[in-house]
Amino acid sequence: MEKRVIFNEEICKSCGLCVHVCPTNVIFLADYLNGKGYRPATVVDQENCISCAKCGQICPDSVISVYRPVKVLQTV
Ligand code: SF4
Ligand code: SF4
Repeated sequence: MEKRVIFNEEICKSCGLCVHVCPTNVIFLADYLNGKGYRPATVVDQENCISCAKCGQICPDSVISVYRPVKVLQTV
């Protein structure tokens, strides 16, 4: 499936705000370091993201882009 949230991991400062604000608890801090020496926030469980955008709104460094799935109209 398409990703609903994309993190620009290289500019994450590991503050954890997005982890706490996510209502479905799908964000966690990775067990590796980015180029600045921080553990970047990431999401593996994309299917449980509800595209609420709270993470993107709270991030002080604009790391996170949130996408909503496009509904495709069915033709008969
Ligand atoms: S968009 Fe909402 S549900 Fe998805 S990762 Fe961000 S805070 Fe969590
Ligand atoms: S709020 Fe932004 S800077 Fe803080 S951990 Fe999340 S993605 Fe990284």
